[in-house]
Amino acid sequence: MIYIFTGAGMAADSGLPTFRDTGGLWENYDINQVCNFPRFIKEQNIRDLTFQFYNERKLQYSEAKPHAGYVAIAKLQQQQPVKVITTNIDLLHEAAGTADVLHLHGRVDQMSCAQCYHYWNIADHVFEPGECAACGSVMVKPGIVFFGEMAPEYEALHWLIEDLKSTDTFVIVGTSLNVVNPIAMIRSAGKYPQIIFIDKNIPAAAKAHGVICMEEAAEVGLLKWINAINQS
Ligand SMILES: [Zn+2]
Repeated sequence: MIYIFTGAGMAADSGLPTFRDTGGLWENYDINQVCNFPRFIKEQNIRDLTFQFYNERKLQYSEAKPHAGYVAIAKLQQQQPVKVITTNIDLLHEAAGTADVLHLHGRVDQMSCAQCYHYWNIADHVFEPGECAACGSVMVKPGIVFFGEMAPEYEALHWLIEDLKSTDTFVIVGTSLNVVNPIAMIRSAGKYPQIIFIDKNIPAAAKAHGVICMEEAAEVGLLKWINAINQS
C-alpha cells in the first residue's frame, strides 16, 4: 500500500499561497485573527472577518487547477492501492480524480458546528452564519480546523499509522512538519514502512530515522518518484 501525505508545498505548486511563506500573514489577513478558534467563539468582529477570509480563499481555490503531480497520484491510484492524506483544505486532489482523501484540517466545501462537531457539505455555496441542524447552535463556522481547535480526523491518521506494514510506502510531500509530523508519529508507533520525503527545503526533523529525502519542489519531486516506481 502506498500512502501519500501532502501539505502546503503541494498546493503552492498550483499557485495557492499559504501562510507558511508569509510570516503570520495570509493574503494580508492576520492568521491570529482569522484562524483562531477561541477568538471566533468570543468576538463577533472576528467571526465576520473569518467568514470573509474563507469566502475569499474558497473563490481563489475554485480557480486553481491541479498540477501534474496531482494528476500522477490520481493515475497511480487507478493502478494500485493509494491512500492520500492532506493537511490542505482545498480540493485539488479531488479535482485531479483522487478518491477517498483524508483531510486532516477540514475542507472548503464543509461547514461545521463549534458546539457539537456536526459537519455538513455546502458544495460551491459561500460560507455563511446560520444554525446547526443537529443541535440548533448558532456557533457554526467554516468546516476548517482553526488554531486552538480539536482536529477530529487526527484519530483517523492515528489508526492509519497503527495499520502500517513494513512493506508499505509512506510518501510525504511539501510540508514543514511543524503542525503535523507523520515521521515522528510513525516511529513512535514502532512502524517501519519505507518513508520518502519530498520538499524544496528538507527540514531537520526529516533527516533522521532512515527517511529517503528528495530535495525538490512538490510537483517535480513527485513526478520523479512516480516515474521511478513505474519503471521498477
Ligand atoms: Zn451542532
